[in-house]
Amino acid sequence: MRIGRTSLFGHLVEVRCGELDEMVLVDGRPVSRKRFANFRNTSHFFDLEDEDGTAHACEILCAADGLLSTRVTVLADGRRVLRMKIRGGRVVDLRCPACSYSMLGQVAEGDRVRCPECGEMTTLGALGVRTATDLMEP
Ligand SMILES: [Zn+2]
Repeated sequence: MRIGRTSLFGHLVEVRCGELDEMVLVDGRPVSRKRFANFRNTSHFFDLEDEDGTAHACEILCAADGLLSTRVTVLADGRRVLRMKIRGGRVVDLRCPACSYSMLGQVAEGDRVRCPECGEMTTLGALGVRTATDLMEP
């Protein structure tokens, strides 16, 4: 089971890629499930409300990357907000949402991380990791 997490509009979003099916959970509640999703590109669509009650159209695109890894792209209102690669229970590749530069190995200031390539500021939560330690290369 490959698992990736991120926070989106104040919600915890989790992607679970199993052998036979793929599932997206929001705050622990399943919102999308696709059977036999392995080895194909699969999109999961759902709406998320932000703190103001505005709904955002979200998409999570999962693509197999070899036998053991999955590339996960998270989009909100058509804009790419996160790209990561998951293997087993951990994230093995994390990319800047703005320019795709690798964010692994970057140093966080508190909860915030600056992309060394384009200067875009993001948070550990938005990158789907809990602590600065998770940014270290696997
Ligand atoms: Zn960047």
